[in-house]
Amino acid sequence: MKVLVINCGSSSLKYQIIDMDTQDVLCKGLVERIGIEGSLLTHKVPGHDDVVIKEDMKDHKRAVELVMEALVDPEHGVIKSLDEIDAIGHRVVHGGQKFAKSVLIDDEVKEALNKCTELAPLHNPANILGIQACEAVMPGKPNVGVFDTAFGMGMEPKAFMYALPTKYYEEYEVRRYGFHGQSHDFVSHRALALCGKDPATTKVIVCHLGNGASISASIGGKCVDSSMGLTPLEGLIMGTRSGNVDPGIMQFICHKEGVDIDGMLAILNKKSGIFGLSGGISSDFRDVQKAADEGNEKAKIALDAFRYRVAKYIGSYAAAMNGVDVIVFTAGLGENDKLTRQEICDKYLGYLGVKVDPERNNVRGKEALISSDDSKVQVYLIPTNEELKIAMDTVKIVSEL
Ligand code: AMP
Repeated sequence: MKVLVINCGSSSLKYQIIDMDTQDVLCKGLVERIGIEGSLLTHKVPGHDDVVIKEDMKDHKRAVELVMEALVDPEHGVIKSLDEIDAIGHRVVHGGQKFAKSVLIDDEVKEALNKCTELAPLHNPANILGIQACEAVMPGKPNVGVFDTAFGMGMEPKAFMYALPTKYYEEYEVRRYGFHGQSHDFVSHRALALCGKDPATTKVIVCHLGNGASISASIGGKCVDSSMGLTPLEGLIMGTRSGNVDPGIMQFICHKEGVDIDGMLAILNKKSGIFGLSGGISSDFRDVQKAADEGNEKAKIALDAFRYRVAKYIGSYAAAMNGVDVIVFTAGLGENDKLTRQEICDKYLGYLGVKVDPERNNVRGKEALISSDDSKVQVYLIPTNEELKIAMDTVKIVSEL
Protein backbone atom coordinates (compact mmCIF):
# COMPACT_ATOMS: atom_id res chain seq x y z
CA MET A 1 0.00 0.00 0.00
CA LYS A 2 1.35 3.45 -0.93
CA VAL A 3 0.48 6.36 1.35
CA LEU A 4 0.97 10.03 0.59
CA VAL A 5 1.74 11.94 3.79
CA ILE A 6 0.96 15.66 3.79
CA ASN A 7 2.03 18.21 6.38
CA CYS A 8 0.69 21.66 5.53
CA GLY A 9 1.81 24.93 7.05
CA SER A 10 0.32 28.33 6.28
CA SER A 11 2.72 28.90 3.36
CA SER A 12 4.43 25.52 3.10
CA LEU A 13 3.63 21.91 2.33
CA LYS A 14 5.82 18.89 3.11
CA TYR A 15 5.08 15.54 1.51
CA GLN A 16 6.32 11.96 1.34
CA ILE A 17 5.19 8.83 -0.40
CA ILE A 18 5.83 5.79 1.76
CA ASP A 19 5.52 2.25 0.43
CA MET A 20 4.06 0.66 3.53
CA ASP A 21 4.88 -2.89 2.41
CA THR A 22 8.59 -2.06 2.88
CA GLN A 23 8.32 1.24 4.82
CA ASP A 24 10.58 2.75 2.13
CA VAL A 25 10.27 6.47 1.43
CA LEU A 26 9.86 6.65 -2.36
CA CYS A 27 10.20 10.43 -2.45
CA LYS A 28 9.78 13.47 -0.27
CA GLY A 29 9.56 17.16 -0.87
CA LEU A 30 8.80 20.62 0.29
CA VAL A 31 6.77 23.45 -1.23
CA GLU A 32 7.69 26.86 0.14
CA ARG A 33 6.22 30.36 -0.15
CA ILE A 34 2.69 29.28 -1.14
CA GLY A 35 0.72 32.45 -1.90
CA ILE A 36 3.92 34.52 -1.76
CA GLU A 37 6.02 35.63 -4.70
CA GLY A 38 8.89 33.25 -5.48
CA SER A 39 7.20 29.97 -4.52
CA LEU A 40 9.13 26.79 -5.24
CA LEU A 41 8.91 23.03 -4.90
CA THR A 42 11.93 20.88 -4.01
CA HIS A 43 11.38 17.22 -4.88
CA LYS A 44 13.78 14.58 -3.55
CA VAL A 45 14.07 10.99 -4.73
CA PRO A 46 16.61 8.86 -2.83
CA GLY A 47 19.74 8.31 -4.95
CA HIS A 48 18.91 11.15 -7.37
CA ASP A 49 19.67 14.87 -7.53
CA ASP A 50 17.04 17.17 -6.03
CA VAL A 51 14.60 18.69 -8.54
CA VAL A 52 13.63 22.32 -7.93
CA ILE A 53 10.49 23.64 -9.64
CA LYS A 54 9.95 27.38 -9.49
CA GLU A 55 6.42 28.51 -10.22
CA ASP A 56 4.17 30.97 -8.45
CA MET A 57 1.52 29.03 -6.52
CA LYS A 58 -1.37 31.18 -5.47
CA ASP A 59 -2.86 28.67 -3.05
CA HIS A 60 -2.54 25.19 -1.52
CA LYS A 61 -4.62 23.64 -4.32
CA ARG A 62 -2.08 24.75 -6.91
CA ALA A 63 0.72 23.47 -4.65
CA VAL A 64 -0.94 20.03 -4.41
CA GLU A 65 -1.44 19.99 -8.21
CA LEU A 66 2.27 20.65 -8.74
CA VAL A 67 3.23 17.98 -6.21
CA MET A 68 1.01 15.49 -8.09
CA GLU A 69 2.69 16.45 -11.38
CA ALA A 70 6.10 15.85 -9.78
CA LEU A 71 5.01 12.46 -8.42
CA VAL A 72 4.00 11.14 -11.88
CA ASP A 73 6.63 12.99 -13.95
CA PRO A 74 8.24 10.58 -16.46
CA GLU A 75 11.75 11.67 -15.39
CA HIS A 76 11.72 12.34 -11.67
CA GLY A 77 8.35 10.84 -10.68
CA VAL A 78 8.05 7.72 -8.54
CA ILE A 79 4.62 6.45 -9.62
CA LYS A 80 3.04 5.99 -13.06
CA SER A 81 -0.37 7.34 -12.09
CA LEU A 82 -2.11 8.81 -9.06
CA ASP A 83 -4.16 5.59 -8.89
CA GLU A 84 -1.12 4.02 -7.23
CA ILE A 85 -1.70 6.20 -4.15
CA ASP A 86 -4.02 4.25 -1.88
CA ALA A 87 -4.65 6.89 0.76
CA ILE A 88 -3.51 10.26 2.07
CA GLY A 89 -2.49 10.87 5.67
CA HIS A 90 -2.60 14.46 6.94
CA ARG A 91 -0.86 15.89 9.94
CA VAL A 92 -3.42 17.95 11.86
CA VAL A 93 -2.06 20.03 14.72
CA HIS A 94 -5.07 20.41 17.00
CA GLY A 95 -7.89 17.93 17.43
CA GLY A 96 -9.31 19.54 20.55
CA GLN A 97 -10.99 17.11 22.94
CA LYS A 98 -12.97 15.48 20.14
CA PHE A 99 -10.12 13.56 18.53
CA ALA A 100 -8.27 11.17 20.81
CA LYS A 101 -7.15 9.12 17.82
CA SER A 102 -6.69 9.35 14.08
CA VAL A 103 -9.82 9.53 11.95
CA LEU A 104 -11.12 9.12 8.40
CA ILE A 105 -11.98 12.60 7.19
CA ASP A 106 -15.56 13.29 6.16
CA ASP A 107 -17.75 16.40 6.23
CA GLU A 108 -18.56 16.01 9.92
CA VAL A 109 -14.85 15.72 10.79
CA LYS A 110 -14.05 18.80 8.72
CA GLU A 111 -16.70 20.77 10.56
CA ALA A 112 -15.25 19.66 13.89
CA LEU A 113 -11.75 20.63 12.70
CA ASN A 114 -13.01 24.07 11.83
CA LYS A 115 -14.25 24.38 15.41
CA CYS A 116 -10.75 23.46 16.70
CA THR A 117 -9.26 26.33 14.71
CA GLU A 118 -9.82 28.63 17.66
CA LEU A 119 -7.37 26.49 19.64
CA ALA A 120 -4.66 26.51 16.93
CA PRO A 121 -5.31 29.58 14.77
CA LEU A 122 -1.87 29.46 13.11
CA HIS A 123 -1.89 25.77 12.22
CA ASN A 124 -5.34 24.23 11.78
CA PRO A 125 -6.49 26.46 8.89
CA ALA A 126 -3.45 25.37 6.86
CA ASN A 127 -4.07 21.70 7.71
CA ILE A 128 -7.69 22.08 6.52
CA LEU A 129 -6.52 23.77 3.30
CA GLY A 130 -4.25 20.78 2.64
CA ILE A 131 -7.15 18.36 3.11
CA GLN A 132 -9.43 20.38 0.82
CA ALA A 133 -6.71 20.63 -1.84
CA CYS A 134 -6.18 16.84 -1.84
CA GLU A 135 -9.93 16.23 -2.03
CA ALA A 136 -10.15 18.58 -5.03
CA VAL A 137 -7.13 17.17 -6.87
CA MET A 138 -7.69 13.49 -6.01
CA PRO A 139 -11.44 13.03 -5.54
CA GLY A 140 -12.50 9.75 -3.98
CA LYS A 141 -9.19 8.94 -2.23
CA PRO A 142 -9.49 8.32 1.51
CA ASN A 143 -7.99 11.15 3.60
CA VAL A 144 -7.01 10.44 7.20
CA GLY A 145 -6.31 13.04 9.91
CA VAL A 146 -3.56 12.27 12.43
CA PHE A 147 -3.46 14.71 15.35
CA ASP A 148 -0.54 16.20 17.24
CA THR A 149 -2.80 16.35 20.28
CA ALA A 150 -4.17 12.78 20.19
CA PHE A 151 -1.40 11.20 22.31
CA GLY A 152 -1.94 13.77 25.09
CA MET A 153 -5.59 12.82 25.33
CA GLY A 154 -4.43 9.89 27.45
CA MET A 155 -3.77 12.30 30.34
CA GLU A 156 -6.03 12.23 33.39
CA PRO A 157 -7.66 15.41 34.74
CA LYS A 158 -5.03 15.78 37.48
CA ALA A 159 -2.45 16.18 34.69
CA PHE A 160 -4.42 18.08 32.08
CA MET A 161 -6.40 20.57 34.20
CA TYR A 162 -5.01 24.04 34.83
CA ALA A 163 -5.71 25.44 38.28
CA LEU A 164 -8.03 28.08 36.81
CA PRO A 165 -11.78 28.60 37.26
CA THR A 166 -13.33 25.47 35.74
CA LYS A 167 -15.62 27.50 33.49
CA TYR A 168 -12.68 28.06 31.12
CA TYR A 169 -12.35 24.32 30.70
CA GLU A 170 -16.07 23.69 30.53
CA GLU A 171 -16.87 26.51 28.12
CA TYR A 172 -13.69 26.89 26.06
CA GLU A 173 -11.81 23.56 26.46
CA VAL A 174 -8.86 25.32 28.09
CA ARG A 175 -6.71 22.41 29.29
CA ARG A 176 -3.30 20.88 28.66
CA TYR A 177 -3.19 18.92 25.38
CA GLY A 178 0.49 18.09 24.71
CA PHE A 179 1.87 18.35 21.17
CA HIS A 180 4.44 16.41 19.08
CA GLY A 181 1.97 13.57 19.64
CA GLN A 182 2.99 11.55 16.57
CA SER A 183 6.58 11.63 17.75
CA HIS A 184 5.88 10.70 21.38
CA ASP A 185 3.52 7.94 20.29
CA PHE A 186 5.91 6.50 17.70
CA VAL A 187 9.03 6.70 19.86
CA SER A 188 7.44 5.40 23.07
CA HIS A 189 6.05 2.39 21.19
CA ARG A 190 9.46 1.71 19.61
CA ALA A 191 10.92 1.84 23.13
CA LEU A 192 8.34 -0.70 24.33
CA ALA A 193 9.28 -2.98 21.44
CA LEU A 194 13.03 -2.65 22.11
CA CYS A 195 13.28 -2.79 25.89
CA GLY A 196 12.35 -6.43 26.46
CA LYS A 197 10.04 -5.58 29.36
CA ASP A 198 6.29 -6.10 29.76
CA PRO A 199 4.90 -3.60 27.23
CA ALA A 200 1.67 -3.15 29.21
CA THR A 201 3.32 -1.77 32.35
CA THR A 202 6.63 -0.25 31.21
CA LYS A 203 7.16 3.37 32.28
CA VAL A 204 8.73 5.46 29.51
CA ILE A 205 9.90 9.07 29.38
CA VAL A 206 10.47 10.45 25.86
CA CYS A 207 12.58 13.62 25.49
CA HIS A 208 11.77 15.14 22.07
CA LEU A 209 14.57 17.70 21.88
CA GLY A 210 14.53 19.77 18.71
CA ASN A 211 13.80 23.33 17.76
CA GLY A 212 10.43 22.64 19.36
CA ALA A 213 11.02 20.55 22.48
CA SER A 214 8.67 18.52 24.65
CA ILE A 215 8.78 15.59 27.02
CA SER A 216 6.23 12.93 27.79
CA ALA A 217 5.62 10.26 30.39
CA SER A 218 3.67 7.14 29.45
CA ILE A 219 2.84 3.78 30.93
CA GLY A 220 2.27 0.93 28.48
CA GLY A 221 2.10 3.47 25.65
CA LYS A 222 -0.67 5.55 27.32
CA CYS A 223 0.26 9.16 27.99
CA VAL A 224 0.43 10.10 31.67
CA ASP A 225 1.77 13.61 31.18
CA SER A 226 3.25 15.78 28.45
CA SER A 227 5.04 19.08 28.84
CA MET A 228 3.24 21.20 26.25
CA GLY A 229 -0.09 22.72 27.22
CA LEU A 230 -3.03 24.47 25.59
CA THR A 231 -0.42 25.64 23.10
CA PRO A 232 3.11 24.44 22.32
CA LEU A 233 4.54 27.29 24.43
CA GLU A 234 4.48 25.48 27.78
CA GLY A 235 7.24 23.29 29.15
CA LEU A 236 10.86 22.98 28.10
CA ILE A 237 13.10 25.78 26.90
CA MET A 238 13.05 25.58 23.07
CA GLY A 239 14.83 27.17 20.11
CA THR A 240 12.87 30.43 20.32
CA ARG A 241 10.05 29.57 22.77
CA SER A 242 10.43 30.33 26.45
CA GLY A 243 8.63 27.28 27.83
CA ASN A 244 7.39 27.79 31.42
CA VAL A 245 7.56 31.32 32.80
CA ASP A 246 5.76 33.10 35.61
CA PRO A 247 2.59 34.47 33.89
CA GLY A 248 3.07 37.66 35.95
CA ILE A 249 6.09 38.47 33.75
CA MET A 250 3.71 39.23 30.91
CA GLN A 251 1.99 42.15 32.58
CA PHE A 252 5.33 43.47 33.87
CA ILE A 253 7.00 43.49 30.44
CA CYS A 254 3.86 44.78 28.69
CA HIS A 255 3.91 47.80 30.99
CA LYS A 256 7.67 48.34 30.79
CA GLU A 257 7.96 47.95 27.01
CA GLY A 258 4.56 49.23 25.93
CA VAL A 259 3.62 46.02 24.11
CA ASP A 260 0.16 44.45 24.04
CA ILE A 261 -0.62 40.80 24.80
CA ASP A 262 -0.13 39.71 21.17
CA GLY A 263 3.27 41.42 21.12
CA MET A 264 4.15 39.68 24.38
CA LEU A 265 3.16 36.29 22.98
CA ALA A 266 5.33 36.98 19.94
CA ILE A 267 8.27 37.63 22.28
CA LEU A 268 7.61 34.40 24.19
CA ASN A 269 7.23 32.37 20.98
CA LYS A 270 9.84 33.90 18.69
CA LYS A 271 12.45 35.83 20.67
CA SER A 272 12.95 33.67 23.74
CA GLY A 273 14.26 30.16 24.39
CA ILE A 274 17.96 29.54 23.77
CA PHE A 275 17.85 32.35 21.20
CA GLY A 276 16.79 34.84 23.87
CA LEU A 277 18.87 33.37 26.69
CA SER A 278 22.05 33.32 24.58
CA GLY A 279 21.67 37.04 23.93
CA GLY A 280 20.37 36.46 20.40
CA ILE A 281 23.22 34.24 19.11
CA SER A 282 20.94 31.69 17.45
CA SER A 283 17.98 29.39 17.89
CA ASP A 284 20.16 26.56 16.55
CA PHE A 285 21.79 24.53 19.30
CA ARG A 286 24.92 23.99 17.18
CA ASP A 287 25.61 27.72 16.97
CA VAL A 288 25.00 28.19 20.68
CA GLN A 289 27.28 25.23 21.52
CA LYS A 290 30.02 26.70 19.31
CA ALA A 291 29.73 30.05 21.09
CA ALA A 292 29.82 28.29 24.48
CA ASP A 293 32.95 26.37 23.43
CA GLU A 294 34.53 29.71 22.55
CA GLY A 295 33.80 30.99 26.05
CA ASN A 296 30.57 32.95 25.57
CA GLU A 297 28.96 33.07 29.04
CA LYS A 298 25.38 33.66 27.88
CA ALA A 299 25.63 30.70 25.52
CA LYS A 300 26.88 28.52 28.39
CA ILE A 301 23.99 29.61 30.61
CA ALA A 302 21.48 28.98 27.79
CA LEU A 303 22.68 25.39 27.32
CA ASP A 304 22.93 24.78 31.08
CA ALA A 305 19.39 26.09 31.58
CA PHE A 306 18.06 23.94 28.73
CA ARG A 307 19.60 20.73 30.11
CA TYR A 308 18.62 21.58 33.70
CA ARG A 309 14.98 22.06 32.65
CA VAL A 310 14.95 18.72 30.78
CA ALA A 311 16.38 16.99 33.86
CA LYS A 312 13.80 18.63 36.16
CA TYR A 313 11.00 17.35 33.94
CA ILE A 314 12.49 13.84 33.90
CA GLY A 315 12.59 13.93 37.70
CA SER A 316 9.01 15.14 37.97
CA TYR A 317 7.78 12.53 35.49
CA ALA A 318 9.60 9.77 37.37
CA ALA A 319 7.64 10.97 40.41
CA ALA A 320 4.39 11.18 38.42
CA MET A 321 4.76 7.52 37.40
CA ASN A 322 6.32 6.40 40.70
CA GLY A 323 9.35 5.21 38.73
CA VAL A 324 10.78 5.05 35.24
CA ASP A 325 12.03 2.05 33.25
CA VAL A 326 13.13 3.67 29.99
CA ILE A 327 14.29 7.17 29.01
CA VAL A 328 14.51 8.00 25.30
CA PHE A 329 16.15 10.88 23.47
CA THR A 330 14.82 11.87 20.04
CA ALA A 331 14.50 14.74 17.47
CA GLY A 332 17.27 16.94 16.03
CA LEU A 333 19.24 17.60 19.20
CA GLY A 334 18.27 14.40 21.03
CA GLU A 335 19.38 12.24 18.09
CA ASN A 336 22.57 14.11 17.23
CA ASP A 337 24.08 15.67 20.32
CA LYS A 338 25.84 13.15 22.55
CA LEU A 339 27.01 15.89 24.92
CA THR A 340 23.46 16.97 25.79
CA ARG A 341 22.41 13.35 26.42
CA GLN A 342 25.49 12.57 28.50
CA GLU A 343 25.32 15.71 30.60
CA ILE A 344 21.62 15.45 31.40
CA CYS A 345 22.09 11.87 32.57
CA ASP A 346 25.46 12.23 34.36
CA LYS A 347 24.81 15.50 36.11
CA TYR A 348 21.23 15.05 37.25
CA LEU A 349 19.93 11.48 37.01
CA GLY A 350 22.43 9.47 39.07
CA TYR A 351 19.91 9.24 41.92
CA LEU A 352 17.62 7.23 39.62
CA GLY A 353 20.45 4.79 38.90
CA VAL A 354 20.84 6.10 35.33
CA LYS A 355 24.26 5.32 33.83
CA VAL A 356 25.03 6.29 30.24
CA ASP A 357 27.96 4.47 28.63
CA PRO A 358 30.08 7.09 26.75
CA GLU A 359 31.04 4.59 24.04
CA ARG A 360 27.45 3.49 23.41
CA ASN A 361 26.43 7.15 23.50
CA ASN A 362 28.91 7.97 20.73
CA VAL A 363 26.19 7.51 18.11
CA ARG A 364 24.00 9.70 15.91
CA GLY A 365 20.67 9.33 14.23
CA LYS A 366 20.11 5.60 14.69
CA GLU A 367 18.41 3.37 17.24
CA ALA A 368 20.80 2.53 20.05
CA LEU A 369 20.81 1.55 23.70
CA ILE A 370 23.15 4.11 25.26
CA SER A 371 22.95 3.09 28.92
CA SER A 372 25.40 0.64 30.49
CA ASP A 373 24.33 -2.88 31.40
CA ASP A 374 24.24 -2.00 35.12
CA SER A 375 22.06 1.11 34.64
CA LYS A 376 18.80 0.83 36.60
CA VAL A 377 16.99 2.66 33.78
CA GLN A 378 17.48 1.81 30.11
CA VAL A 379 18.38 4.89 28.06
CA TYR A 380 17.89 4.88 24.29
CA LEU A 381 18.40 7.04 21.27
CA ILE A 382 15.43 6.40 18.97
CA PRO A 383 15.04 8.54 15.82
CA THR A 384 11.56 9.92 15.55
CA ASN A 385 9.54 9.36 12.39
CA GLU A 386 6.34 11.37 12.46
CA GLU A 387 5.60 10.73 8.77
CA LEU A 388 5.81 6.97 9.24
CA LYS A 389 3.47 7.20 12.23
CA ILE A 390 0.98 9.18 10.10
CA ALA A 391 1.27 6.57 7.34
CA MET A 392 0.87 3.69 9.83
CA ASP A 393 -2.33 5.20 11.25
CA THR A 394 -3.60 5.87 7.72
CA VAL A 395 -3.08 2.23 6.70
CA LYS A 396 -4.82 1.03 9.87
CA ILE A 397 -7.88 3.20 9.28
CA VAL A 398 -8.12 2.49 5.55
CA SER A 399 -7.75 -1.27 6.15
CA GLU A 400 -10.75 -1.17 8.46
CA LEU A 401 -13.02 0.45 5.82
P1 AMP B 1 14.35 19.47 14.85
O1 AMP B 1 13.42 20.57 15.23
O2 AMP B 1 13.98 18.15 15.43
O3 AMP B 1 14.62 19.41 13.37
O4 AMP B 1 15.77 19.84 15.52
C1 AMP B 1 16.47 20.97 15.16
C2 AMP B 1 17.55 21.26 16.20
O5 AMP B 1 18.43 20.12 16.29
C3 AMP B 1 18.40 22.45 15.82
O6 AMP B 1 18.41 23.40 16.88
C4 AMP B 1 19.77 21.88 15.68
O7 AMP B 1 20.74 22.69 16.25
C5 AMP B 1 19.75 20.58 16.45
N1 AMP B 1 20.74 19.70 15.85
C6 AMP B 1 20.67 19.08 14.67
N2 AMP B 1 21.83 18.40 14.44
C7 AMP B 1 22.64 18.63 15.51
C8 AMP B 1 23.95 18.22 15.90
N3 AMP B 1 24.68 17.46 15.11
N4 AMP B 1 24.43 18.65 17.08
C9 AMP B 1 23.69 19.44 17.86
N5 AMP B 1 22.46 19.85 17.55
C10 AMP B 1 21.92 19.45 16.41
